Amino acid sequence: MKVLVIGTGGREHALALALSRDSQVTEVHAAPGNPGMAKVASLHPVDPLDGAAVADLASRIGADLVVVGPEAPLVAGVADAVREVGIACFGPSAEAAQLEGSKAFAKQIMAAADVPTALARVCETPEQVADALDAFGAPYVVKDDALAAGKGVVVTEDRQVAFDHGVSCDRVVIEEYLDGPEVSLFAITDGSTVLPLQPAQDFKRALDDDEGPNTGGMGAYTPLDWAPEGLVAEVSRRVLVPTVQEMAARGTPFQGLLYAGLALTGRGTRVVEFNARFGDPETQALLSLLKTSLAALLYGAATQTLAEVGLPQWHDGAAVTVVIASEGYPEAPVTGDRIEGVEEADALEGVDVIHAGTKMDEDGNLVTAGGRVLSVTAVGADLQEARERAYAGVGLISIRGAHHRSDIARDVPR
Ligand code: AMP
Repeated sequence: MKVLVIGTGGREHALALALSRDSQVTEVHAAPGNPGMAKVASLHPVDPLDGAAVADLASRIGADLVVVGPEAPLVAGVADAVREVGIACFGPSAEAAQLEGSKAFAKQIMAAADVPTALARVCETPEQVADALDAFGAPYVVKDDALAAGKGVVVTEDRQVAFDHGVSCDRVVIEEYLDGPEVSLFAITDGSTVLPLQPAQDFKRALDDDEGPNTGGMGAYTPLDWAPEGLVAEVSRRVLVPTVQEMAARGTPFQGLLYAGLALTGRGTRVVEFNARFGDPETQALLSLLKTSLAALLYGAATQTLAEVGLPQWHDGAAVTVVIASEGYPEAPVTGDRIEGVEEADALEGVDVIHAGTKMDEDGNLVTAGGRVLSVTAVGADLQEARERAYAGVGLISIRGAHHRSDIARDVPR
């Protein structure tokens, strides 16, 4: 199978790496990719948001499967453009990607499918924003309706901050605060069969002990030994399957990866958000433990034959990924700094250094090119070993001004 991966981030590097190690895959291509992906894939300088260009590339290289990594191309209809030229594509249509592209749409689907989530109001005027803030009370949760690259959600005790964010967006969802540990549960689906992956947890705040601003994600681990027994079955039954069925019933079947961000509250499990693609950085940890062929799962989803693949199987042990971010991330990342020690870290037992915001400068040096620069991913016999290996890798990498959290997978719930 020839596979083309669309995107430039850590998630896409992790996908390309797993596909390059998959015996069902003969060639891995990526567009536009990153310097880490260049080691496992042929890179093509194509705009990931340009559906016609991606479809043309897929045809030219004879791809059997295109895997669209990020949300923006999905919402822009890149998966539709690929399918139109008769090539199997892993990723939802633009219409189905609205599950992530519009928080208000996601709330409508959840209401129709009776999926447990936070009570919410959609607001378009300052009066509606003020009313909704007062109705739900602090802590205030205010979400830009549209895609905002992880920056659209404000959770705050400060009513003025909540109000200002609310009125700065064309349309916002204001909702009740959900208290409890968060879990990321991904499912691969072809529009009818739903195969959940094992749960993972990510760390959204920039600083240790969940301090600082929200980020795209500073680290992750899997599995969650502490998760309640039966969680995956319950979420499948109450969240994933009804959502997939509702999308199909509307004539906009969802095929690809359905990401349920969950809060385990005292009143039960609630959906915090849906995403329409693999989560970054949970994917880096999850794929390093996946035993089932990733290509088989993605191709099965893209060709409505997922039932033949069966439930994903996992290696024993645990995986931890730690993100190294550039100076100033998330507010104002500084780029262009030299990155040293990647090969040394990558050579450690059980460690993969996954690239995200990296590039080669004119002199052939690896330099930072974005906020989240690398995610150092490690597997181990247990969480502690995986954690030690990941941080050993982080310790070998040096980037001026860079920062990472030191508490990824450290204080996990018992
Ligand atoms: P989202 O983009 O919807 O996942 O929101 C980003 C982050 O904001 C989530 O991972 C949560 O940590 C937090 N968040 C979102 N909605 C809520 C909520 N209703 N209650 C508490 N925290 C939330």
